[in-house]
Amino acid sequence: MKANYIIITRCCIICTKAKDKMLSYKLRLYPTKTQESKLDDAIESCRMVYNDFIFESRLAYKEGYKINFDELQRMIPYMIPKDRVYSKTAQMVLWQFYNNLKVLSSLSKRGKRTGKLRFKPKSRYNSINYNQSGFKFLPDNKIKLSKIGKIKCIIHRTIPRKIKEIHVKKELTGVWYAIVVCENECKSICSLLRKKIIGIDVGINNYCYDSDGHVIEHPQILRNSEEKLKRSQRKLSRKIKGSSNQWKEKLRLAKIHQKIKYQRNDFLHKISKYYVDSYDTIFVEELKIQNMVKNHHMAKSIYDSSWNSFFQKLEYKAANAGILFTKVAPHGTSQSCSNCGRMVKKTLAIRTHCCPHCGLVIDRDYNASLNIKQRGTDNLPTGCREVTPLERTPLTVACMIYGHVISLNKETDDFSRK
Ligand SMILES: [Zn+2]
Repeated sequence: MKANYIIITRCCIICTKAKDKMLSYKLRLYPTKTQESKLDDAIESCRMVYNDFIFESRLAYKEGYKINFDELQRMIPYMIPKDRVYSKTAQMVLWQFYNNLKVLSSLSKRGKRTGKLRFKPKSRYNSINYNQSGFKFLPDNKIKLSKIGKIKCIIHRTIPRKIKEIHVKKELTGVWYAIVVCENECKSICSLLRKKIIGIDVGINNYCYDSDGHVIEHPQILRNSEEKLKRSQRKLSRKIKGSSNQWKEKLRLAKIHQKIKYQRNDFLHKISKYYVDSYDTIFVEELKIQNMVKNHHMAKSIYDSSWNSFFQKLEYKAANAGILFTKVAPHGTSQSCSNCGRMVKKTLAIRTHCCPHCGLVIDRDYNASLNIKQRGTDNLPTGCREVTPLERTPLTVACMIYGHVISLNKETDDFSRK
């Protein structure tokens, strides 16, 4: 069954580093034309400064010395007009420049091939940063930004008080966002004493299969829009470089990409919420996606699945709800039998697990999810492990409508809700 997706455009939590205890909220901004031109001006000024830093450091390098942070910082007031850009925003450009240098040097230390920092063209510089000050949330759904003014903004979610910084970003489609980075107040994990444990196995044919027998169909978001994308890219390649028609087609293409992004995020938010709401302990596999995409036949499907993003969402939602989310070692989860524990070798094409030793016949992914659950449970402290043995249920057909997993097998559903 084809699922319909509600597109989130106004606000959503976009990313998090649960370990760093930071949480980002993405709010849609509605600047007036004057405010928009002010924002554009500020971004352009910051871009010029960034490029100037690269130029100065290259010049110094040619003359045989290394320019340091303080010297560049002293240059900032002469580079940026004070009435256009908030002083701290300008300083953040320098931090960004230095962070990029650090990344380059750490990459080259690890033996990777690196080049030099490149000058940023207009298309690659689209945000400014307000760090710790220069912004204020007003009660009438407005956000006050220094040097810009009061911008209309829909805040339909309570934002924690400890705001670290705000990135003001312009998408290629001309839509403005404020990305609000806050300190995350994670709850302590209290789920270990409860027993609703789930193991989730992600895949390409079905998006995921859990140890309670629920299947979530793969939404095939990229595949569904592939034809549109191809057509737009083909049209774009035929346009004259720099013409207004090329610009229009670029915009059309960007909108298609944006829609794909919204649909994917929407889907991932819904299923991650479903699992966090329904279970107390969640186990997934620790996947090495960089190694997996080396298989060129599956790379597109793997990227389309965005498993990392799914796990990230599960991780921060679990941290916020105070439940346990853990990744277990992936080796042999689909090969070993969940009933007797012996290895049953099979290729990717074989979708059913038939164990010659104990006679178990179940879906391959279901077997993997049971193994993930078992492996996760084994790692728990002894007192917290589930005492009831794993119950094997017949294969169920489930589908997902508007983010709800519906099991067509009544028994399985009852078991999972216990
Ligand atoms: Zn077996």
